[in-house]
Amino acid sequence: MINEQTYKLLEKALATSPGDWETRAHLIDLYLAAGLAPQAAAVLKAAPAIPQTETDLLRQARVELETDQIAAQLTLQSVLNLNRASATAYLLLARLFQKRGLRDEARKKYGAATVIDENLSDPELAAWLDQTPPPPPPAAPLPTAIPATSEPQPVAVTQQEMDAALQAINAPETAAEPERPKITFNDVGGMEEVVERIRMNIIYPFKNPEVFKKFNKKPGGGILMYGPPGCGKTHIARATAGECGATFISLAITDVLSKWLGESEQHLHQIFETARRRKPAVIFIDEMDAIGVSRTDASSAMAPLVNVLLTELDGIAARNDHLMVLAATNTPWRVDSALRRPGRFDRVLFVPPPDAPARKSILQICLRDLPAEGLELEKLARQTERFSGADLRAAVERASEKAIYEEMRTGRPVKLTQRLLADAIKETRPSTNEWLETARSYATYANRTGLYDDLVAYFEKG
Ligand code: ADP
Repeated sequence: MINEQTYKLLEKALATSPGDWETRAHLIDLYLAAGLAPQAAAVLKAAPAIPQTETDLLRQARVELETDQIAAQLTLQSVLNLNRASATAYLLLARLFQKRGLRDEARKKYGAATVIDENLSDPELAAWLDQTPPPPPPAAPLPTAIPATSEPQPVAVTQQEMDAALQAINAPETAAEPERPKITFNDVGGMEEVVERIRMNIIYPFKNPEVFKKFNKKPGGGILMYGPPGCGKTHIARATAGECGATFISLAITDVLSKWLGESEQHLHQIFETARRRKPAVIFIDEMDAIGVSRTDASSAMAPLVNVLLTELDGIAARNDHLMVLAATNTPWRVDSALRRPGRFDRVLFVPPPDAPARKSILQICLRDLPAEGLELEKLARQTERFSGADLRAAVERASEKAIYEEMRTGRPVKLTQRLLADAIKETRPSTNEWLETARSYATYANRTGLYDDLVAYFEKG
């Protein structure tokens, strides 16, 4: 027990040097530990400035939790802006919702806290969460009044203000937006082999389920594409949806994780539900490696997310409910092997850097609607060894910018010329080299399962 004298001494020290944050923080902690929140709030309020570190903001939130719940929510939001993985911030949010009698919200936040930090527990809160909810609760009380003698007084808030604040903090950021792509395989340059395999494995089974049924075979299973960045994995997935007149839903694993930390499983499930409502649909999952790496780590915050994903994939394989799943990664060697079991991503496709004919056809697609004259695309294709599709697009854009500038400068119409494009190509660095170097080692040393046969063949050819 701290005796009165200690508080007095610390108060006195602060009166002479109010800017001594260390002493102030210590006194706040002592008051909080003694259950004297109003006193802690008064000490906090008298601070000339409060450092905006995670620890200090969390301390502030602990005080506000007892005295001003809206302020507490805003402070906790600031903590999460600093660190999306602050288990304590989620725990305090859970307690805040507990105070408001919002069991579901509290459960979500507590779940997030314990997923981030397995060792964290609050038995009292957990017991409350386990109780079966009582009949509809009466409107939750507003922040409880603080004894009249103490400072500061709680800010009076209406129920509506409180609910608005709660909503603001809970509103998910934009979900993966479904779209109806207009592009088809006609907009994909080269890549005939990849396109053909997608046709065989995804589109035909999808369009002719009865043939599969006749032979007692399940179409199911997704395709995992891998290859250097910018070489058209996303583009091909979008075109696949366009080919089938299907809805396209694209999500990147790191987005799912960072936007909805602690609630990402529900959101991932919701994305699949949205796809089911809008079927036929293609779900495209980018950055598959992001979950592969962490699953091997048993305490990973992502383990539940992987499980949701596996359940969804198994469900699709079993029910054949007009969903197609394509996934992509730049680092296939990091993808968890559980994801490659039959019915999941059992087909792994290498999406290589475009070869010369593919580069010519990508250039053709990029230049399709642009004013140009006298172009020798074959020559340009030869000059763009190791360029990705994205590099080619960037070079065409660079040349267009120069043409626009030239037209504005001279006041005469300017067209894209071989010269403009060749110059832009010289200024663009091919981006696939680094990837190919890394991949070469995997193809050489880690191809026991034959997973990288395509890659090996690619290097043998080239
Ligand atoms: P990845 O998903 O492999 O990182 P993207 O599909 O996002 O690459 O490609 C980036 C951009 O490059 C695409 O939006 C598209 O404009 C262009 N592109 C890449 N490959 C092709 C291709 N084969 N045909 C036409 N455009 C392509």
